[in-house]
Amino acid sequence: MTDSAAVAYSVNQSVASLVMHNPPVNALGKAVRVGLIDGIEKALADDAVSYIVITSDIGFFSGGADISEFATGDIEPNLSTKVLHAVEQSTKPVIAVLPGPAFGGGLELALACHYRITHKANKVGLPEVNLGILPGAGGTQRLPRLVPVAQALEMVVSGKPTAVTKLNGVFSVITETPEQLQSATIEFIGQLDPGATIPRTCEIEVDSSSFDSAIFDQFAAGIAKQARGFFAPFNCIKAVQAATELPFEQGLTREGELFMECMNTPQARAQQHFFFAERAAGHVTDYDKQTPVREISKVAVIGAGTMGGGIAMNFANAGIPVTMLEMKQEALEKGLSVIRGNYERTAKKGKLTQEAVEQRMSLLTGTTDYEDLADVDLVIEAVFEKMDVKKAVFSRLDEVCKQGAILATNTSTLDVNEIASATSRPQDVIGLHFFSPANVMKLLEVVKAAETAPDVIKTCMQMAKKIRKVAVLVGVCFGFVGNRMIETYGREANRLMLEGATPQQVDKVIYDFGLPMGPFTMGDMAGLDIGYFVRQSRKAFIEHDPSYCVVADKLVEDGRVGLKVGKGAYLYEAGNRAPIPDESVMAIAKQEAERLGIQQREISEQEIVERCIYPLINEGALILEEGIAAKASDIDVIYVYGYGFPVYRGGPMKYADEIGLATVLDAMQKYHDELGDYGKAWFKPAPLLKQLVEQGKSFN
Ligand code: NAD
Repeated sequence: MTDSAAVAYSVNQSVASLVMHNPPVNALGKAVRVGLIDGIEKALADDAVSYIVITSDIGFFSGGADISEFATGDIEPNLSTKVLHAVEQSTKPVIAVLPGPAFGGGLELALACHYRITHKANKVGLPEVNLGILPGAGGTQRLPRLVPVAQALEMVVSGKPTAVTKLNGVFSVITETPEQLQSATIEFIGQLDPGATIPRTCEIEVDSSSFDSAIFDQFAAGIAKQARGFFAPFNCIKAVQAATELPFEQGLTREGELFMECMNTPQARAQQHFFFAERAAGHVTDYDKQTPVREISKVAVIGAGTMGGGIAMNFANAGIPVTMLEMKQEALEKGLSVIRGNYERTAKKGKLTQEAVEQRMSLLTGTTDYEDLADVDLVIEAVFEKMDVKKAVFSRLDEVCKQGAILATNTSTLDVNEIASATSRPQDVIGLHFFSPANVMKLLEVVKAAETAPDVIKTCMQMAKKIRKVAVLVGVCFGFVGNRMIETYGREANRLMLEGATPQQVDKVIYDFGLPMGPFTMGDMAGLDIGYFVRQSRKAFIEHDPSYCVVADKLVEDGRVGLKVGKGAYLYEAGNRAPIPDESVMAIAKQEAERLGIQQREISEQEIVERCIYPLINEGALILEEGIAAKASDIDVIYVYGYGFPVYRGGPMKYADEIGLATVLDAMQKYHDELGDYGKAWFKPAPLLKQLVEQGKSFN
């Protein structure tokens, strides 16, 4: 009785079942939409049918629209005006039975049905805001008719999934288990009064007693900080507001207008790009389906400092036991107590039970003896950033670790090939570059060295998911992808200070561009000494440029290493992280500029963006050319998850595509020509950038 492969139609007694089957998530692509309309029409035409059930035979009810169809523009039959209209206006009761999650258009479909049945562990949500848009198939109009307006706002604007048990008024029946759904549905239908009016969501009045008209402005004010720079969340609020002010049909029209406003923004393009970029990061050509995966059930971390502690927490959180090795017992105890402190703070905020704290701590053991690492499957080294120290550690690991163990380094800048050369098994050595704080930041750069085996790469890419990281595979070079590119940004920020911009001016422009903070605030937070030591180790790279970060060098040499000592590029009051501008820093910049013969001048906001962001993009182009990153979208993922680049700009490479590569190239060329030796040294356009401009192409 199957009509469409995507929606199976069958009739049993008086019930027609429309069973969606479009793995993996029942995306509402064309075939499913056509199948639903056909099914409704058939059921209405069949006198033997009194009730219609829409359900699914896979783990999802529906994950929502098929967003790959956005690009084709082929939206017929329209989900909202055709499919959901047909469902809601059906003259026979339609019951949605949700065996699994309903997201986006999937939930909108369920809301257009007359009754909904699910089980108590299920979740539903409207995540469209994460794609820079809003639910455009009536979700913003129907949801506030079923739940309090405040809850509808929260769901639509946050995009987060909600437990079905928290949605009073949406479900007619919530069973204990998914297995009970079928019998519960039969029982529910059996109890329906055949003569009763069909409850259509569109005909329900929004409960005006559930909210105050000020709620919309208050809600907008409440999200102002976290949604800074984003367009869609504010249109989401307007759409829900429309549901409370307009009759259903007009509200639907308004929702459509607000949806199109979002859809036409560069932000929607950027966020949709990013959605695919994140998934594409996992598609790697270094291995295939046949490549085996090594088992990781026991981990060791060398060094219980800032990074080692955070790295260990990731594994403990995932239930994987970790042995931490330090040289001295005191360092070990300190490291473990920092970890406990972190967990206790989370517990205090109510986000972790005390029992869970103890359970995670029980997975962490300490040692000072390498022999205790004999049976671990993966070791991650996070000791001081010194080649000789790292090599000594790897040589020792080579002696004690079992064959097949993966030996990883968390180095930020050092050559992983050289580290691997300290072992007799370079095929098992890889870089796992976590970002600080390692237990929080989602990014993991997986660094493949010259001899890293494909199964080691595959194991690490898969392991990243288990510890809830987004892994991006990169190659070996100084700083890999993220830190190599950030060098250009820090360099330009510093040079702009010599040319007359203040730290606060640069920071404000970058903050307004959408990063969480500007380069000077970031430098002070990280500690200016970190960059200083890196520069000390890279003399050959910078010696041709006497202006290179000279003010930062002076600050460090004066002991002004940043927030931790209360002074860096800014001043800080005790216990306060708010940066206070300091005239004396500009005085140093002025003095240095005079010494170097650099004319100080007014610097425009546009120049600050161009000088800080375009060289970063240019470096990204070089990285692509060299094959250090496999695709531009990988760089975007690294920048959004590792450096807080605004997702509504899609990452630096997508941003370049959006403003046009010719714009970037022209500006690079302009600064190359106008900034003397400095411009000639640092503003050479990447060949790939030139080539793409000539061919009229983009990065992505
Ligand atoms: P840290 O100084 O906080 O910690 C290093 C720890 O290693 C110390 O506890 C030290 O006692 C221990 N240690 C040193 N030599 C050792 C040895 N031979 N055997 C065992 N333990 C030893 O440093 P960190 O910030 O955690 O950095 C560690 C590594 O992570 C470095 O390679 C660094 O470049 C890299 N990294 C740091 C960051 C960051 O933001 N801090 C980010 C990414 C990567």
